[in-house]
Amino acid sequence: MNIPFLDLKKINQNYEHDLAAQLHSVINSGWFITGNKLIEFEKNYADFSGSQFSVGVGNGLDALILSLKSLNIGKDDEVIVPSNTYIASWLAISYVGAIVVPVEPRIDTYNIDVSLIEEKITSKTKAIMPVNLYGQAAELDKIMALSKKHNLYVIEDNAQAQGALCHGKLAGSFGHINGTSFYPGKNLGALGDGGAITTNDADLAEKIKVLRNYGSQKKYYNEIKGYNSRLDELQAAFLDVKLKKLASENEQRVIIAENYLQQLANFEDLILPQLAEGCTSNYHLFVVRTKRRNELQKFLLDKGIGTVIHYPVPPHMQKAYKEYEFSDDQFPIASLIAETCLSLPLYPGMDDEQINYICNTIKLFYA
Ligand SMILES: *Cc1c(COP(=O)(O)O)cnc(C)c1O
Repeated sequence: MNIPFLDLKKINQNYEHDLAAQLHSVINSGWFITGNKLIEFEKNYADFSGSQFSVGVGNGLDALILSLKSLNIGKDDEVIVPSNTYIASWLAISYVGAIVVPVEPRIDTYNIDVSLIEEKITSKTKAIMPVNLYGQAAELDKIMALSKKHNLYVIEDNAQAQGALCHGKLAGSFGHINGTSFYPGKNLGALGDGGAITTNDADLAEKIKVLRNYGSQKKYYNEIKGYNSRLDELQAAFLDVKLKKLASENEQRVIIAENYLQQLANFEDLILPQLAEGCTSNYHLFVVRTKRRNELQKFLLDKGIGTVIHYPVPPHMQKAYKEYEFSDDQFPIASLIAETCLSLPLYPGMDDEQINYICNTIKLFYA
């Protein structure tokens, strides 16, 4: 049996009719940037996210960069961020000129270890950027309490956890301003690049609208040196189609994850995903860990099963961050996760036969 790691063709074919109708509608509107499709999607995504405002931007990285900018975070400011994240979280902090202050994750949930944050707070600390990694909400309630105590901003990197909850409240609705991504492989994926911020602060939402559009509210009148980072009409229209099914797609993902969790429970040295108390996951990724990761990946590939490593090199060991002179063993938990993690296929539309095949193949590997 052949099971790709992710089947974006199959996922999007479910929407082909409605997506084609939107393409037709946008072509015939003659309006391609910052129009009614964007306004409509922003309203709907804000509702989905339990936030008052959502502003569409060009991609997830820009959502984080513009969020930091909107809070005037820049040169010499320190931002606390997990040591084990996709590099975009770190890059956003670097792009505004601020300093990355990595904090190790919990080894069970892979989200930032809240008990390690306080010791990293200095007089220069301006913000905490928790990442809701692999689809699980971080312990955002505790992080918000800590930020209040120390008068810090919180910017959630919610690229992966659209729809996940922390004590009943949605990921992406805790921080002062939060970024998400509609990269095609994300749970709400566009047919190209896209991203958005969510916030309950009307002033911040307005600031992002100006920042994303050349620093201008009125065309050709520029108040500040802004960027060009807008979610275009076509992607907004496509996303609006897919947003209607996001909750049910996330439910399907949870059912698949529960099937994996049941079949692979207490199995050899295989470590399964775990949730923090009160936190849920949309299972953007189903990440297992094993000391024999590379061997397992090859074995699965030989049996037709695609897997991916998220992520093989932690940010502190990337060449891009050599100026910080981090030692390889400075963030041992991030390194351990990078050395042992493996993401199994998990996406809406996978059937029991496929999941059984994957689980049986893993059992065969250990037999
Ligand atoms: C995907 C992702 C981003 C960046 O999103 P893009 O749309 O690719 O720019 C940021 N952070 C995390 C954790 C991500 O997974």
